[in-house]
Amino acid sequence: MSEVYNWQLGRPMYYPYPQASPRQQFAFVFNINRCIACQTCTMACKSTWTFSKGQEYMWWNNVETKPFGGYPQSWDVRILELLDKAHRDAGQEAAWGPGNQQEHSTPYGRFDGMTIFEAAHTQAQREEVALGYEPTDEQWRFPNFYEDTARGAKADRARPNLNPATLPEHSTWFFYLQRLCNHCSYPACLAACPRRAIYKRPEDGIVLIDQSRCRGYRKCVAQCPYKKPMYRATTRVSEKCIACYPRIEGKDALTAGEPMETRCMAACVGKIRMQGLVQVDGNGGWVEDRHNPLYYLVHVAKVALPLYPQFGTQPNGYYIPPRWAPRPYLRQMFGPGVDAAIETYTRPSRELLAVLQLFRASQTIVFRYEIIEGAKVFERNIGGQPWSMYNDTVVGYDRSGKEIVRVSVEEPKFERPAKHYNSI
Ligand code: SF4
Ligand code: SF4
Ligand code: SF4
Repeated sequence: MSEVYNWQLGRPMYYPYPQASPRQQFAFVFNINRCIACQTCTMACKSTWTFSKGQEYMWWNNVETKPFGGYPQSWDVRILELLDKAHRDAGQEAAWGPGNQQEHSTPYGRFDGMTIFEAAHTQAQREEVALGYEPTDEQWRFPNFYEDTARGAKADRARPNLNPATLPEHSTWFFYLQRLCNHCSYPACLAACPRRAIYKRPEDGIVLIDQSRCRGYRKCVAQCPYKKPMYRATTRVSEKCIACYPRIEGKDALTAGEPMETRCMAACVGKIRMQGLVQVDGNGGWVEDRHNPLYYLVHVAKVALPLYPQFGTQPNGYYIPPRWAPRPYLRQMFGPGVDAAIETYTRPSRELLAVLQLFRASQTIVFRYEIIEGAKVFERNIGGQPWSMYNDTVVGYDRSGKEIVRVSVEEPKFERPAKHYNSI
């Protein structure tokens, strides 16, 4: 039995393989508050990687409407139910304890329940390494089932306007959840594979399936809690998001050797996505890198949270939670850091507001940022407390330290001359 450290859970946990951290880790932050569900990200991935025969149902990137949507259908409800049953059978509670939240190694407290690995390990008939299930063909049929369907909405033809909504929680609500493989630090797909066909690259933590070793047993499909590996009937092997690794390696001509953001990230119309590479220590934690934008958002501002950290795979996708959705639902999805994250996002600090401008400002990966302070341009009360906005400028640098982007909080305005109504 191996023990690895999962900082998202604030404790060591059981994993079938010993700790083996990559030197750097592919990671991303999504701001749910800004997503418009245009699916440009989804189509960018599909038109690049999954347009061939046998891949018709493969949406390595998908954007689903919560709480009812999911691809495959109800994937998270099903795995949560399995985990819930495992806890009831073991007479255990899946609760979070306080821990020391100031500590880098326990930022959200301590999860005292069982992960998908521990739940499978404690079962009397231990058949699999992780708790899971294989979706049926029917469950893969509709990538955008229940799109834009709100919880709490009441059909009333006589009164088309719903009740006015106010923060902190709307009674009628939905939000979009953007999903791709999390290139987890402790991947369940990798642990599940009896052929050892799945591996995590030491240079960037990207998780790949070796197509020549895979025999299509679909253990990865069953045991990835996020349901991101997909079986291809035409080749009889499984496939998954490859993190557009040629771009991460700097092979795209556009960035001249510098790591570049992936297709789904770079295409995002709503500017909700920022992706990067973070330094990793020997325990799978992030090495302090104060001015890396991802490090700042996840570990300093703590405004971006992992998706279902309780599963135990230590996913490397982080989300700024939606401000209007019910908190218990969000706490189940993103853990106990939700309230503080929403509070921070609602009254952003000068630094946070500046860093948020970096989302989709460059296709080259930003490794470091600097802020040049500007004048105060706006003030108001938020939540009964004064808040000021400054027109700061944030400068982003690539891996080599070269400036690649410079953007200010206030967008510059350009006025079209009156004689050119239809052009600049
Ligand atoms: S999200 Fe699933 S497929 Fe991706 S690395 Fe994690 S366990 Fe594997
Ligand atoms: S990172 Fe690349 S392969 Fe993965 S979902 Fe995005 S576009 Fe597709
Ligand atoms: S491209 Fe961006 S805004 Fe559009 S659906 Fe994808 S994540 Fe949301």
